[in-house]
Amino acid sequence: MNRILTVALSLVLLSVVGRAQNGSKIDWPRYQDMAVELMQQYLRVNTSNPPGNEIEAARFFKKIFDQHGIENEIFEYKPGRANIIARLKGNGSKRPIILLSHTDVVTAEPASWQVDPFSGVIKNGSIWGRGALDMKGEGLFHLMTMILLKQEGATLSRDVIFLGTADEEVDDEGSLWMIANKAHLFKDAEYLLTEGGDNLFEGGSVKIVGVDVAEKAPFWLRLTATGLPGHGSRPVADSASNRLIRAMNRILDWETPIKLLPAVEQFFKDVAPLQPEPWRSQFANIRESLKDPAFAKSLGNQREYNFLLRNTISITMLSGSKQTNVIPNTATCNLDVRLLPGESPEDFLKALTAVIADPTIKIDNVNRFKPPNSSPINTELFSLIARKTKEKHPGAVITTKMLSGYTESQLYRQLGITAYGWAPIYTTAEEDEGVHGNNERISVRNVREGTREFYEVVKEISR
Ligand SMILES: [Zn+2]
Repeated sequence: MNRILTVALSLVLLSVVGRAQNGSKIDWPRYQDMAVELMQQYLRVNTSNPPGNEIEAARFFKKIFDQHGIENEIFEYKPGRANIIARLKGNGSKRPIILLSHTDVVTAEPASWQVDPFSGVIKNGSIWGRGALDMKGEGLFHLMTMILLKQEGATLSRDVIFLGTADEEVDDEGSLWMIANKAHLFKDAEYLLTEGGDNLFEGGSVKIVGVDVAEKAPFWLRLTATGLPGHGSRPVADSASNRLIRAMNRILDWETPIKLLPAVEQFFKDVAPLQPEPWRSQFANIRESLKDPAFAKSLGNQREYNFLLRNTISITMLSGSKQTNVIPNTATCNLDVRLLPGESPEDFLKALTAVIADPTIKIDNVNRFKPPNSSPINTELFSLIARKTKEKHPGAVITTKMLSGYTESQLYRQLGITAYGWAPIYTTAEEDEGVHGNNERISVRNVREGTREFYEVVKEISR
């Protein structure tokens, strides 16, 4: 082969490979302008829950999906309350990925905001509105990803499913209804992406990207003590109140056992480099370090670490007599118990009963139990999120997070789907105060760049 021909061939190959690999043909400014415009529109849809009225959000999405020829369906499971599902078909060689977002938002107190919470106005470089961070911003990335995949004619190995659900902020009715009635539409999925990621943006750069891979389970209990009532002037030694207080004291003194889960061990290793010594070395080798009782104790005294290591108990509601001079015949307290993934409520109850050591005290479960849950971290999707994030933000630490609270992931993990809480939304501590607070907003820059970052991960996992 002569030299000129070789050079010419290489150039052709280079240009083909270049187009295919870096997606340079995508007109990003056009899509990013669209993302900002649609973010504003979506924030103007008032889905405050209660009452929710998520049908308006479903219609907002439907109109856009229809315009782009994306197959979709709304399920109005009761008047005004609706879910929407949309699908881009793959060739079936891989199982689907679900992009899940709740379309409801918590209520807003307009008087405490600098702008109308449903204005979607752009001010000081941010788009303002209830839900900008929780979680309409992420829902917008999901929408843009569907539009981009469709417009760019991407060949997909798996179905990409957009799922917008109602009522996450109150009772999870939307997802519970979908799982009870329409699970055949998505239950074979391999992956799901939703909220729950926890990122830190500080001093102008992304410091930590935390992917939610596990969530603790609320197991709420009420203790009821009973005893002889009487007049406060003549004390009863084992009155209901006294018995209950003794029980509570034993609970307070109980240090529930430390259990180090793989995702939590990974988290400590990942954030070790950010710590001063001696914590840096201790975190790097957390399993060994925890064998030292003094270290275990000092870590357990830190609120942000303690819940990662054990089942926790907070004593919250208390009730006894309504009058100072009346000894009541019943006294109660509620415990907000949070169990680690892998724990059984029955085992916990058994251990708690032994600690209380008073068979006259009744223990009742008072919530709908949501099983503790986690997803594996040695997956193609997790590695991809880590690699892509590292490319864009070389200084960031990417790690696994276990939430003390829970998201809709807990419902979908029960179906065997690997669910991660992740979004390329990078907020400062001040911006985070807007979540369920006042002046919720997302920066225009984050909408523009997050749209691209999110799309690139979904595109790659669905090639
Ligand atoms: Zn949320």
